[in-house]
Amino acid sequence: MGKGIQSVRGFSDVLPAESPLWQRAETVIRDTLESYAYREIRLPVVERTELFKRSIGEVTDIVEKEMYTFEDRNGDSLTLRPEGTAGCVRAGVEHGFLNRGEPRLWYMGPMFRHERPQRGRLRQFHQVGAEAFGVAAPELDVEMIAMTARMLGRLGLADDVRLEINSLGTPEARAVHRERLVAYLREHIDSLDDDSRRRLETNPLRIFDSKDAGVQAVMEGAPRLLDALDEESAAHFATVRNLLDRLGIEYTVNPALVRGLDYYTRTVFEWITDRLGAQGTVCAGGRFDGLVGQLGGRPTPAIGFALGLERLVALLAERAGSGEFDGAPHAYMVVGADPGEALRLAEALRDRLPGLRLEVHPGSAGFKGQLKRADRSGAAVALILGEEEVAAGRVAVKSLRGEGGQRAVARDDLPEVLAALLVETRRAD
Ligand code: ATP
Ligand code: MG
Repeated sequence: MGKGIQSVRGFSDVLPAESPLWQRAETVIRDTLESYAYREIRLPVVERTELFKRSIGEVTDIVEKEMYTFEDRNGDSLTLRPEGTAGCVRAGVEHGFLNRGEPRLWYMGPMFRHERPQRGRLRQFHQVGAEAFGVAAPELDVEMIAMTARMLGRLGLADDVRLEINSLGTPEARAVHRERLVAYLREHIDSLDDDSRRRLETNPLRIFDSKDAGVQAVMEGAPRLLDALDEESAAHFATVRNLLDRLGIEYTVNPALVRGLDYYTRTVFEWITDRLGAQGTVCAGGRFDGLVGQLGGRPTPAIGFALGLERLVALLAERAGSGEFDGAPHAYMVVGADPGEALRLAEALRDRLPGLRLEVHPGSAGFKGQLKRADRSGAAVALILGEEEVAAGRVAVKSLRGEGGQRAVARDDLPEVLAALLVETRRAD
């Protein structure tokens, strides 16, 4: 056999056995976003390269080495979006809706970064993100954190994640802190790795993000931005902490939390898990009060977050174990001499029971083979519609799980029997 064509490294399939967990995550997240009055925006996957350079920052991992950038046939430099905030702000400025009310938006979809693929790190990955514009008050920061807490809680992950917060202050406060930080780092230059030495000149705050153990040790003693906040940012952060306490949301303040994108100001937060190895950040966000102005809009405060679906689904899969909803049909219809009659009955059942997952054997074949297929489908019951049953106005309902057994059910009673089955399996789902 010839060798088949393989998928591209870092671009993975979500197979049918995995998609039910994705769907559950997406449904819970969507419902939660809507319960906080966020509305969906659908954005293109490709944007002008300039957009990401200007928003994420030239001296960030993403822009320096992770973007999928290409020239299209017109010679324009385009990039597969590495994240959603830049495109969301671009759309808001372009269509002029950022200052109409205080828009609350969410999006979901694939993002692209050329990173080293490993567990929880892909080149095409998926984010759900939300952005709220026009409100500077710290109450919004806390409501957004509460919303992410609710999503994780509804998915049964409350015990798997912890919240870390920090404040990055204003760009002015950061500039003052930067000088002190650089002075400190120059004293410890021998303990810095190449990456950090380079960053020292370009973006020293980012060194807090280093994964190098030696660098991390140096950073323990570094001057902290949190101690150098401007007065307003300090007050803002104090209110955030206070309100989180009042809502009973637990957190730790991590002064080294700096995030990998340059546009953040004031509050930043991450939901972190210890269950996925090094790729521990499931959800991350913060304020970006300067970004709209930076991208040509009227200065507008904003806050957002992005949640990585691969990591979330990995957590759900760990929790799920066996007995988890797997998308199998509830019923499999075994067809006799009149396949048209089976299709007709199946349509009528779907009319009556919109939640029913029903698979009809396509065409006719021997009963034995069909029952084997029914069993393999994972269905709970087989609905057998042989010649005898058609003549008598009945359907044989054969249990495919547990005890087994088969009984004849009058056609009129079939919806009720299947409805009971739906209730039962829903409990198991
Ligand atoms: P990390 O430190 O893990 O690289 P990041 O700071 O680059 O994360 P963000 O850009 O803030 O992450 O993206 C938000 C979330 O998107 C992350 O917390 C993570 O859950 C997810 N994410 C980011 N990059 C990837 C990737 N390459 N593969 C899978 N998920 C990702
Ligand atoms: Mg990253």
